[in-house]
Parts: sequence; C-alpha cells; structure tokens
Amino acid sequence: MMEKLSAKEFDQNFNAVISKFNKALLVTGKVSKDVILLAATKTVDIDTINYAINKGINYVAENRVQELLAKHDKLLPVHEHFIGHLQTNKVKDVIERVELIESVDSIKLAKEISKQALKHGKVMDILLEVNIGGEDSKWGFKPKDTLDAVKEIALLDGVRICGLMTIPPICQTEDETRGFFKKMYKLFIDIKDKKIDNSYMNILSMGMSDDFDIAIEEGANLVRVGTALFGKRNYL
Ligand SMILES: *Cc1c(COP(=O)(O)O)cnc(C)c1O
Repeated sequence: MMEKLSAKEFDQNFNAVISKFNKALLVTGKVSKDVILLAATKTVDIDTINYAINKGINYVAENRVQELLAKHDKLLPVHEHFIGHLQTNKVKDVIERVELIESVDSIKLAKEISKQALKHGKVMDILLEVNIGGEDSKWGFKPKDTLDAVKEIALLDGVRICGLMTIPPICQTEDETRGFFKKMYKLFIDIKDKKIDNSYMNILSMGMSDDFDIAIEEGANLVRVGTALFGKRNYL
C-alpha cells in the first residue's frame, strides 16, 4: 500500500528533522556535509519521494527488492541505497540499481554480491550489518564476529567494504539507546584502526526517526529516517 502525504505535511516534517539534525551536528562540531540524511522510503508513493528529492533529500533507500524495482525507474536523480535483508537470488536486481548495499548480513551474501558484481563489470560498495544487541530476531553479524567477517569479505574482488550499519534493539530509555550506539562506534573505530586491506571504514550508518540525533552525537555519519519525514505508515 502506497501512502501519499500532502506537501504541507512533508514540509513540516522535513523542517523538524532538519532542525533536530542541525542541533545534533552542533554537539559534534560536524557540518551538514559530514553526515548523510537518508530517507527510508518504504510504503511511500513515488510522487511524495520525488517531492522530497526536490526539497533537498539526496539519498533514498528501500528495504524490499520488489518495491525498489517498482520505484527505481521513476525516481528523480538521487543516490540510492538498499537497507533490507537481501536474499541471494535477488542480488542481481539490486546491484544494477543502487550505489550502496548497507545490509550485508552474511558471508554467503557478500560472496554472491561479489560474484554478480564482477559479472556486471563492477565493484559493489557495501556495509556490513551488525546485530549490536545480539538479538535472535535480527539479521547481522554478532559484534564479536564482525572483525573476522571484514577480513574474509575484504578478500572478495567484487565488493568494497565501506563501513558498518546497525539497527539497535528497541530501548526504554535514551541512555540505553546511547549505550548501543557507543558500543557500535567503538567496534567501528576498532576495526578501522586495523586498516584491513581493501576495506574502508568510512561510513557508520545508525539512527532512525526516534534516535537519529543521538546516533549523530555518538558518531554516526549516515542516518536513515522514514517515519519522521513521511509520517506513520502501515507496514506491508
Ligand atoms: C524503515 C527503516 C528505517 C527508518 O525507520 P523509521 O523508524 O521509520 O525512521 C531505517 N532503517 C531500516 C533498515 C528500515 O527498514
């Protein structure tokens, strides 16, 4: 189901997000070009997405392949990422269309992406998804396995590791959420410091509508925001 939002509603949401975003930047001393604000556009109709792009959204992402395929050709020029669990049989649909797959959650998937990318004569940029809370319900590498995963995946010719992504557990308090972001930042820096060949730890993607400001304060340089921009949606 595609949701349509009025221009006025979007403008209000966008202004609120930007002001929260800028406030968090001030805390870190970063400037707006240092942190990517990506719009998570699941269930949002193409007109609304293109309106958002015209308003200054430069990055968008889908988390389902089917929806990516339905919208991709109708989007105005924009950076596109993929942020959902990806089945190996759908890899080829995605690598032709996005510039970064943020949600590489297994060695097997990385190998398939590498294979398909080479077939298409390209090297695919990826992030490794980390299950920072160690939840059974979530995809991603366990924190303790992430360094080894980076080492192994960095050997593949068809992918370039650009950083890490996470979706922390739903927390009751801000402190608890902040704790997961801190843990994630530490893991990111520890792996970056290892300077593993063919891996570039430049992007730390964490923070969504409810906590993107906290994530920025704790070192995120890519935040993925859906609801705060487009309103509450009925999930498919
Ligand atoms: C939907 C989604 C988001 C955005 O979530 P909101 O809470 O709506 O901001 C971020 N990351 C991923 C992987 C998503 O699927």
